[in-house]
Amino acid sequence: MNIKDKIEALREELRQHNYKYYVLDNPTISDYEFDMKLKELQELEAAHPEFFDPSSPTQRVGGEITKNFATVVHDYRMYSLDNSYSKEDLLDWEQRIKKIVDGEVQYTCELKYDGASINLTYENGRLLRAVTRGDGVQGDEITANVKTIKSVPLQLKGDYPTRFDIGGEIVLPVKGFLKMNEERIAQGEEPYRNPRNTASGSLKLQDSAEVAKRPLECLLYSVKGRDLDITTQYDGLLKARSWGFKVPNEAKLVASIDEVLDYVAYWEEHRNELPYEIDGVVVKVNSLYQQEELGYTAKAPRWAMAYKFKAERVSTRLEKITYQVGRTGAITPVANLKPVQLAGTVVKRASLHNADQIEKLDIREGDEVFVEKGGDIIPKIMGVDLSLRPADSEVTRYIEFCPECGTKLIRPEGEAKHYCPNEKSCPPQVIGRIQHFISRKAMDIEGLGGETVALLVNEGLISNYADLYDLKEEDVVPLERMAEKSAKNLIEGIEASKKIPFERVLFALGIRYVGETVAKKLAKHFKSVEALMEASVEDLVNVDEIGERIAESVVDFFSSEAHTAIINQLKSHGVQLEISAEQLANQTDKLKGNTYVVSGVFHSVSRNELKKLIENNGGRVASSISSKTTFVVAGDNMGPSKRAKAEKLNIPILDEQTFLAELK
Ligand code: AMP
Ligand code: ZN
Repeated sequence: MNIKDKIEALREELRQHNYKYYVLDNPTISDYEFDMKLKELQELEAAHPEFFDPSSPTQRVGGEITKNFATVVHDYRMYSLDNSYSKEDLLDWEQRIKKIVDGEVQYTCELKYDGASINLTYENGRLLRAVTRGDGVQGDEITANVKTIKSVPLQLKGDYPTRFDIGGEIVLPVKGFLKMNEERIAQGEEPYRNPRNTASGSLKLQDSAEVAKRPLECLLYSVKGRDLDITTQYDGLLKARSWGFKVPNEAKLVASIDEVLDYVAYWEEHRNELPYEIDGVVVKVNSLYQQEELGYTAKAPRWAMAYKFKAERVSTRLEKITYQVGRTGAITPVANLKPVQLAGTVVKRASLHNADQIEKLDIREGDEVFVEKGGDIIPKIMGVDLSLRPADSEVTRYIEFCPECGTKLIRPEGEAKHYCPNEKSCPPQVIGRIQHFISRKAMDIEGLGGETVALLVNEGLISNYADLYDLKEEDVVPLERMAEKSAKNLIEGIEASKKIPFERVLFALGIRYVGETVAKKLAKHFKSVEALMEASVEDLVNVDEIGERIAESVVDFFSSEAHTAIINQLKSHGVQLEISAEQLANQTDKLKGNTYVVSGVFHSVSRNELKKLIENNGGRVASSISSKTTFVVAGDNMGPSKRAKAEKLNIPILDEQTFLAELK
């Protein structure tokens, strides 16, 4: 076999296994065997770049960075759905349908997957692009990210149309979601609230290699196109399945609204047996001909109806109210409940948010409370069953002192939460700050986890993050559960973090309101921690997109002597506290004040490099053309609608060469 055939055969084989594993949930080889074959293919492709194929299974690992997602106008508008909440609503809908269409009406019943809406375009059997719903008319192009989702076929099989769109939902199955949260908690980070937001957040990550690590799935339900030889919704589902898409088997064709009601009742009862969350059922008139007759309202098809499930609710006894102290000192009251079954899991705790919430609902220990699971993983307390309140019940008195360190709590003006002001020695604050410092998006210290941090603090080995750099192997070996090997890894991990660039160090410091993006802006503008420490509130507010709240928080942080001491300690250990010479050399202010939109395909640089060039030279990159755009930089195949818009607004269009020449 020649090399090209060999590569092709491997690709086809891996495609098959991928399909069996991720679409059919029925793998026939071990993960190890799969990885070996993938590796073989990767090596062959690396040795023979002339056979590159963007649809190869090796392209799913990601790696492409997208700073600003391009805006794309949908070929077929993505509608919303009308909602119904009762049997009566559904019967009314049936009446409206019967007035417009003649003859029997069949319905396709589907589950309403709770995730992020997506539209995929295929041409000649290959994934061309993936676009979010956006406002329904246009969305963000996130192809690089969607390609990493293994249940999205990159190459179709069977008898597919030359070109079509397919709509669906990207979901995060509950198991994967819980696993991600376990890791987050171990890193000392706040857990994600619910799978839906986490799924849509994942799709907007700039680094597709990060997306590849998230266990997302893509479920499809709507084939769109011209001359497709599909006459019913159900037929569309079957065909899509035959082309290799993941179309859940729960979809069902029924002949009457009564059967629709049975389907709804069944899934309301059994929803927790599914691997992913649903928030209802979607009922669609099956015949596409009848669908056309029914048409659309301004926002939704008349031929489809969502039936939303009621939030699941139970009542149980509130045994005790306890209080948690977070990394910032914020106090969260927690309801400890008599364990109760809710939405498929046993619930023991619920958040009470803050003092006002407790007062408003007059929640007391010993009360029978209503607990509801809405979209969030953490259940909410909705109210009290007053008829069951014990005679000796007492009004809840919110704590005045920190449960961890005994300091008197404060409640800053305009804030709903109480805080423990003892930043310096309140244990959860001390530990939480260090856990944040070492977390993946901050210093990313390998070999060190959230629990070890707690151990190090409790053993008195460290009391702030700068102390990490003073640790020696022999200090940590005696710790419980610390093998010599892991002690070595830990020290090496800490050493390696000295190379982490300034912008991430700045984020790691844990200044309130200074998230990743703000840290990047500040690093770029001030270039060193010294300059930042000297900045006044006014200087800070003058930086693009830095508001008063952030500015005050930064000034406040550096005005503390304890903080300056820690900064000096970090500095003495060689942690990056200014941007590197290399970064500096590539930066100018040449494009300051200009906003660019980049569109099309480029030759001497990649689109991402181009965007980086603009930003490094002080320009701004925006994703869509507006009156605020200064220039459009156009490569080949710039979208016609973008061109028209630029011309209409009289915005100059630069080609690649002109732009690069001007920059020199
Ligand atoms: P809503 O956002 O409440 O208006 O509901 C409309 C959304 O439901 C659509 O944009 C889809 O993303 C989502 N959806 C989930 N499952 C389905 C399904 N089986 N058919 C159609 N839409 C669905
Ligand atoms: Zn405290």
